[in-house]
Parts: sequence; structure tokens; C-alpha cells
Amino acid sequence: MVFRDDYKHKGLRKGLINTLRSKGITNERVLYAMESVPRHYFFDDALLHHAYIDKAFPIGNGQTISQPYTVARQTELLDPEEGMKVLEIGTGSGYQAAILSVLNVRLFTIEVVKPLYQKAKDHLKRLGYPARCYLGDGSIGLPKYGPYDRILMTAAAPKIPDSLIEQLKDGGILVAPVGKKKSQTMVRIIRKGDEKVTEEHGFFAFVPLTGKEGWD
Ligand code: SAH
Repeated sequence: MVFRDDYKHKGLRKGLINTLRSKGITNERVLYAMESVPRHYFFDDALLHHAYIDKAFPIGNGQTISQPYTVARQTELLDPEEGMKVLEIGTGSGYQAAILSVLNVRLFTIEVVKPLYQKAKDHLKRLGYPARCYLGDGSIGLPKYGPYDRILMTAAAPKIPDSLIEQLKDGGILVAPVGKKKSQTMVRIIRKGDEKVTEEHGFFAFVPLTGKEGWD
């Protein structure tokens, strides 16, 4: 695949940014990241024209690249600051990982489906996004490299696994879609010592989390 990001793609991306603003995304760093990363690089050639529509899209192996609004909203809620250690659960296409990389965090991302892991890892490397990719069950986090300032789950969990809270630093933030298999509430948890503050941020539909703390 040839990577080309010309005026036409950039124009489409500007349009997408306007859509995100109109849907309520206000964080300028997030909007900047969304404008910087060519989303069409994460699509097959034949599907290029789908890249700048605000919709989720299949990426193979029964998985999807999240809708741009969802990526923007999750990133906004996560509020990652430069240099922070961030864990993403569910690498998928690698698009969200690219967005987080542009925000200059130290990103660890874990994917359970081997072909997706391999593809995203090679792809992110080739595009120059410095994400550390791991293969494994992220429903129990990635304790080896924790604790993290931020944890982002991009698959739907039946509940928040305790092990993930344990991998959050004090003051750390976790964002995850929690609920049923087909519809979830976006939950944000802020860890304060042994306490946690839980907020709810609207309804979303993600693919299910598999693994030990998932739906398996
Ligand atoms: N963040 C992705 C979207 C991911 S879709 C992107 O930007 O494209 C959800 C992903 O979570 C899928 O790729 C799925 O395979 C993965 N997943 C599901 N359960 C998982 C688990 N237990 N550990 C790691 N990844 C998981």
C-alpha cells in the first residue's frame, strides 16, 4: 500500500474535524491529533472513501475501527498529558494508538487477536508512531509495565476488572465502555488512593471484550 496524504485527504479531515466540533468535542489537542493522523492509512485501499465518514468500520477478524467521534470522545475523557504512561486495551487497527502517540504519551497497547496485533504493530512502526504493541489478554491489563497514568479500554466490558484499577496510579484515570454486549455506558473512573470516583458519559456500542474478565 502506498501512503499518500494529499490536499484531498486533508480537506476531508478538516470536514471531519468540523463534524466532531458540532458533536461537542472541544479539546483542541484532541482535535489537533485527529487532524494530524491520516485515518485512511488504517483502511484498505478499496475502502479509502469510508475513512472520513464519522462511522465505525470493519477491519477483519470480526473487529472494527471505532467511529471517529468515539475515538475523539474517549481521548477527551482520558485527558492524557505529555509524557504520561498510557495503556490501551484493544489495539485493533492501531488508529487510536496513533492518535495517542501524536499526543506524546508513552503508549502501551495490547491486542488479543494475533493477526490484528501483527498488522497494527508493523503498520504503526512503518508510519513512525512510537507505540509499544503487545499480544495477549488485556482484560487483565498489562501489569508488567504498570502502574499507568491512564488506561483506555476500546472493547466493551461486562464490568471494570479490579486488576485494572490496581494498575492505575493514584490520581490516574480509566475510561471504558461498560454494560451489555450490544450497548454500554462510557465510564470514567478517577482513582483517589483506595477510593475511586465514577462518572458516566453516555451510551456507546463497542465490540465485546474477550478473555478472563471479558465475555469468554
Ligand atoms: N482501538 C481500536 C478499536 C478496537 S475494536 C482502533 O483504533 O482500531 C476492539 C479491539 O479489542 C478488537 O481489536 C478486539 O480484538 C480487541 N479485544 C477484545 N478483547 C480483548 C482482550 N481481552 N484483550 C485485548 N484486546 C481485546
